Amino acid sequence: MMEPEALEAYRKAGKICGAARDYGAGLIKDGARAVDIADAVEKRILELGGKLAFQTTVNINDVAAHYAPLLDDTLTIKSTDYVKLDCGVHIDGWIADTAITIRPAGRDRLIECSEKMLAIALPMFRPGTVIEDMSAAMEDVAKEFKLKPVANLTGHSLERWTVHGGIVIPCIRGSAPKVLSEDEVYGIEPFVTTGKGMVKDSPPPTIFRWIADRPQRDTTARQLLFAAKNDWSHLPFAKRWAQEKFGNVDLVLNRLVKDGSLWAYNTLKEVSGKPVAQTEHTVIVGDKPVVITR
Ligand code: MN
Ligand code: MN
Repeated sequence: MMEPEALEAYRKAGKICGAARDYGAGLIKDGARAVDIADAVEKRILELGGKLAFQTTVNINDVAAHYAPLLDDTLTIKSTDYVKLDCGVHIDGWIADTAITIRPAGRDRLIECSEKMLAIALPMFRPGTVIEDMSAAMEDVAKEFKLKPVANLTGHSLERWTVHGGIVIPCIRGSAPKVLSEDEVYGIEPFVTTGKGMVKDSPPPTIFRWIADRPQRDTTARQLLFAAKNDWSHLPFAKRWAQEKFGNVDLVLNRLVKDGSLWAYNTLKEVSGKPVAQTEHTVIVGDKPVVITR
């Protein structure tokens, strides 16, 4: 059994995360600015008593993941866009992670497919489930829809203070044998596309994370590294947050990445430029799986 304290924190984080996601989903409309949506979701998380486990991302069409709007970002939503809103909350380091795809012009089969892939996986989060069987079940749903799962994006275990733990859950067949154990926590997030089903790195990065303290001569570099470690708890953070605190941080961020102080996450785009849908919940493995982000 999970420690009652951890379970309670997970339930609280999950509840806040799900509420913030749904609130943000309601803001995804023709003409809305991506940065306003990210700001509003993060503000709501804090108002509800959660902490930000990572930056809110607003990923549109072929941008599958890892786009955190910048300060003064002019990116605006159109009605036929596939907008993936992904947000995370932690309570004392226990993390909930959830995402939804909204298309203002109306839900379609791409979105329906990602939701069905998630729905087929959730009841399988029981001790003893072979991860490969979950991957196969999700891949088969995509096949029925004649769509391609994204092969190089996966669900992942969540650990305290760590968003991407060591275990991955692909949504296609072919992973090494691994069995789920009681009380493990996963972010399960099928990605599906009308394209080839692969994403590639697309610089420049909008997301960073503290890795190591290295001596910095520059005051801003020192302060930014301190914030990354302490204010943002060595969890991933948006470049926008650094811009709000320190102004223009382009050079400083470059230097901190180069000397190994920070990790940079590039935006991930579908290789054939086709739209991607994603749906994500956080679930605790048990005889009755507990989906905390509903
Ligand atoms: Mn997520
Ligand atoms: Mn995730």
